[in-house]
Amino acid sequence: MVKSGSELHHRALELLKERGVKLDDIAELVVFLQKDYVADLTMDMCRENVKAVLSKREVQNAVITGIELDVLAEKGELSQPLLDIIRNDEGLFGMDEILALSIVNVYGSIGFTNYGYIDKVKPGILQKLNDKSDKSCHTFLDDIVGAIASSAASRIAHDDPNKSEIMK
Ligand code: MG
Repeated sequence: MVKSGSELHHRALELLKERGVKLDDIAELVVFLQKDYVADLTMDMCRENVKAVLSKREVQNAVITGIELDVLAEKGELSQPLLDIIRNDEGLFGMDEILALSIVNVYGSIGFTNYGYIDKVKPGILQKLNDKSDKSCHTFLDDIVGAIASSAASRIAHDDPNKSEIMK
């Protein structure tokens, strides 16, 4: 049976929360990405754009899939060699980035640029998710969160191209 949009939406939001990511954490990443390009940028504006990104089914599917794999790896419930690959967040795995690109893909090329940038710099919550000092596994989640923020930044840029990076 096809799942309803609202069930997926609800579950995606719930999973982000369960894994310690608040909407405001993602909105702060959007501020980080867009503050130099949009003079009147507000947290509200960023939060609204994050919510809009999260209302897309493609995005919900990526959130649910990625977080589920993180959780299974954390519990040791995947088989080898995938278990160790995901647990150790192995650099050459690449599936976490590919999944995240399915989010960015919805919003075009500015999203790609922002995603590459934020993935390198790892500001705010991304830094926290990459901290490997505890038992939690966020191999997919960090990329998903970065991609949601990049997509929201891209939405803002497309809304007002005169104020955004695209015109530079
Ligand atoms: Mg990752």
